[in-house]
Amino acid sequence: MNDPRGSADCIFCKIARGEIAATKIYDDAEVMAFHDIRPVAPVHFLIIPKAHVPTLYEVDSSHAPALGKMLTLAGRLAREAGAADGFRTIINNGRVGHQEVYHVHMHVIGGPDPLGPMIARKR
Ligand code: AMP
Ligand code: ZN
Repeated sequence: MNDPRGSADCIFCKIARGEIAATKIYDDAEVMAFHDIRPVAPVHFLIIPKAHVPTLYEVDSSHAPALGKMLTLAGRLAREAGAADGFRTIINNGRVGHQEVYHVHMHVIGGPDPLGPMIARKR
């Protein structure tokens, strides 16, 4: 069976290779950004490194340029997408982080209205 964590069957690798359509908002040799297919807010897009890496547990220094670029792009792309008054970035990792797609991706989520609390506090 194909390993769902492997790059051949990875849905975000397929998007990066152009094999699956996505609503792209940024694309270069190292990273890509596209709208989330199930947005949780008016602005919700994902920024991914093009190189397949499942989670932040597996990253190493070779991934640093792409990961750094993801952070430098977030504000500019958020503003261009209509979130000019704040946004949130989230990178879910593994089971505890409720990660669904095992290719590192940064969610960029924004208003116009303020978002809910980052995470519900347990009492
Ligand atoms: P996560 O739980 O952090 O792994 O989130 C994965 C995100 O990928 C979810 O918000 C999905 O809605 C989104 N997603 C899954 N498939 C696609 C796709 N083909 N195009 C765009 N977003 C997707
Ligand atoms: Zn991948």
